[in-house]
Amino acid sequence: MARLVMKFGGTSVADIDRIRNVARHVKREVDAGHEVAVVVSAMSGTTNKLVEWCREASSLYDTREYDAVVASGEQVTAGLLAIALEGIGVNARSWQGWQIPILTSNVHGSARIRDIDGAELIQRFKERKEVAVVAGFQGLHKETDRITTLGRGGSDTSAVAIAAAIRADRCDIYTDVDGVYTTDPRVVPRAQRLDKIAYEEMLELASLGAKVMQVRSVELGMVHNVRIFVRSSFDRPEDIDPHKNPPGTLICEEDEIVEQQTVTGIAFSRDEAQISIRQVQDKPGVAAAIFGPLSEANINVDMIVQNVSADGKTTDLTFTVPAADYQRSLDTIAKAKGAIGYTRLDGATDVAKISVIGIGMRSHAGVAAQAFSALAERSINIRAITTSEIKFSLLIDAAFTELAVRTLHSLYGLDKTAP
Ligand code: ADP
Ligand code: ASP
Ligand code: MG
Repeated sequence: MARLVMKFGGTSVADIDRIRNVARHVKREVDAGHEVAVVVSAMSGTTNKLVEWCREASSLYDTREYDAVVASGEQVTAGLLAIALEGIGVNARSWQGWQIPILTSNVHGSARIRDIDGAELIQRFKERKEVAVVAGFQGLHKETDRITTLGRGGSDTSAVAIAAAIRADRCDIYTDVDGVYTTDPRVVPRAQRLDKIAYEEMLELASLGAKVMQVRSVELGMVHNVRIFVRSSFDRPEDIDPHKNPPGTLICEEDEIVEQQTVTGIAFSRDEAQISIRQVQDKPGVAAAIFGPLSEANINVDMIVQNVSADGKTTDLTFTVPAADYQRSLDTIAKAKGAIGYTRLDGATDVAKISVIGIGMRSHAGVAAQAFSALAERSINIRAITTSEIKFSLLIDAAFTELAVRTLHSLYGLDKTAP
């Protein structure tokens, strides 16, 4: 007997038929003798619709009310799945975040989980053989007694946090792809499924644009050592052989991965904006004058490139910010113009960041250099570069995103060979 968390994303619960399919997946595990907690997302498209309604109601909405609205999508699917389970003879009860409770910070819209008491769920496994169906994405800020949400994609984080709280043997993330691929399989059909990926690599992939797992869920998995298995919900439950390992990707400790490639995966993000400040005074304190106000405005600056000054007096400085913060960043810099001293402020939002990730890069030199020549051969201009121990990122024109990802995917030998 094992204790499992099974998480189903939006497309997996998109309508009643799919919810019934999910119920059969859950029954399969219950029949095998396992204790099961299920975490569900809202039906696909629902959260987007709810977010849109908040914006339509008022552009300056209160984020406490935003959370009250957007958390409702998961309330529906948790209830529906509990009904579907009962309908096929599985004992089940739905749980909203506040009922467990899943306690969080009060940063409405992207709250962090602080604590979950799994005792009652465990007791119900034992005493009633009851499946817990938990609404993902939502929590409670105890001091103010308000509903919170965990940021887009947050049901992954609910699932991993519950797995840690009930000491589950595994956290299965059922989604619309059958695992984590070398890059988004919708963009590169020749992407390959990885059997295993290290937490650290998955963390980079997720934070650099691969939305298959929310970043915080991977962080939590790493800290609490939760075995996370990404697999497809579209397989028919009846076709799954309980004695065989299903297709999927295990997110685990680096030591468990025997054959380590130099490059494991490629992520990309179009949610970037570039800002260039021209002819900045080349003197001590200027970087602080620029990045201080941005940080005070809670704007995350990512890639930073400063040119060497030709005349010893002025230089150009380029950096990236999330596209959503673009206008706010320009306004913040313009306000600080007096302290910074520059002649012109340029920006672009039609840029994309391509990132190449692999733990193997720690021990291999020249990996990034190969990318520079491969992109140059395709006449793709690189606007900015950043590197760290296990990844490097390149900023390019958004129009070339797919070409660049495919080029690098082939370059590093990640393409699937024809069957
Ligand atoms: P869910 O609704 O189940 O949470 P998401 O849409 O959040 O699912 O995440 C799954 C999607 O992530 C896939 O459909 C795929 O397009 C995308 N994706 C991006 N990068 C990758 C990757 N490296 N491996 C697998 N899927 C990826
Ligand atoms: N429903 C939420 C979203 O769309 C949470 C999730 O699906 O993980 O962001
Ligand atoms: Mg998701």
